[in-house]
Amino acid sequence: MKFNSELDNIRTYEAGKPIELVVREFGIEPEDIVKLASNENPYGCSPKVQEAVSAIVDKMALYPDDSMYKLKEGLSRRFGVNKHEVIIGSGSDQVIEFAFHAKADSNSKVLINSITFAMYEIYARHVGAEVIRTQSREHDLDEFYALYLEHKPSMIFLCTPNNPTGESIDAESVKSFIAKIDKETLVVVDGAYMEYTHYKDSDKALMPHELIAAYENVLYLGTFSKAYGLGGMRVGYGIASRDIITALYKLRPPFNITTLSLEAASAALEDEAFVQDSIAKNFEEMERYKEFAASAGINIIESYTNFVTLCLKNDQNSSNVALTLLRQGMIVRDLSGYGLNALRVTIGKPSENDRFFELIRPLI
Ligand SMILES: *Cc1c(COP(=O)(O)O)cnc(C)c1O
Repeated sequence: MKFNSELDNIRTYEAGKPIELVVREFGIEPEDIVKLASNENPYGCSPKVQEAVSAIVDKMALYPDDSMYKLKEGLSRRFGVNKHEVIIGSGSDQVIEFAFHAKADSNSKVLINSITFAMYEIYARHVGAEVIRTQSREHDLDEFYALYLEHKPSMIFLCTPNNPTGESIDAESVKSFIAKIDKETLVVVDGAYMEYTHYKDSDKALMPHELIAAYENVLYLGTFSKAYGLGGMRVGYGIASRDIITALYKLRPPFNITTLSLEAASAALEDEAFVQDSIAKNFEEMERYKEFAASAGINIIESYTNFVTLCLKNDQNSSNVALTLLRQGMIVRDLSGYGLNALRVTIGKPSENDRFFELIRPLI
């Protein structure tokens, strides 16, 4: 059968390997597997989330509240924005997808960083848009601006902090960059790990309400999958001017978030102490990765997230190292597909990190 030609150029997104797959492929017991590959919160979510979800399991026969009143209320309070400036997606991934369908087509260009979240390119290809990438590894906003002038893209993505490198852009630089962009170009600021940046360095932290108050063409993205520990529930959000949100809403399928997911996210927002505590532990453990890298003589990119990128030496091959680790039940992300001889490792609990150091030391 012939399919839309756009599909010819799309490679299926490779998600971090689930534990179940490693159990099947390598015959390793589930309790011996450590997954440090998808930047999930190793401490999970607040116990209050489980209580809240358990209390409504009898509601599964009914369609969800499609107005998403409670979660929108929670998000608008949390971020100091109006409810009509918020859209909720099945992961922020879905909001990215809406944005592409709202703004790009086969005559459009989309400007992204050389190394960044893989889904931008995949969604660009869904709509046949051309992807322009910078050259520098980390976001260089001068280069972004030069490429913007040259190509006049209809969308620009700033992933800050960036996945899979962990770097974060100075907030002031982001703002002065957006100020130079014409109002017809949608600037998407993907803050999937912004909670971590807020904790580590306020100079790099962006506030969605400030962005949308100053710039009508910005779409800020956040997610419950990372710091909030709800990757399995699939809830993300976009915050933007009413104009942008109205356009995205036209693309939203009804009931795109389940009742249980809406409840889980609302409850997670109520327990900020839990999230802050796991972020504090994250950065304590990150110090151990820095010490490890120094002792092994390998480079680590300064990270503002819950993962680190370990750049291996030339005589070490990241795919081989990742595979050897996988055979021993340690799942990390090989970045060779991004053109980096590097591993992205989610910072786990202390015991999981111990295991990682133990297994990788003989390999590098
Ligand atoms: C994880 C991630 C997302 C989205 O995750 P969802 O689970 O779909 O909310 C978006 N952008 C970046 C950079 C991410 O790392």
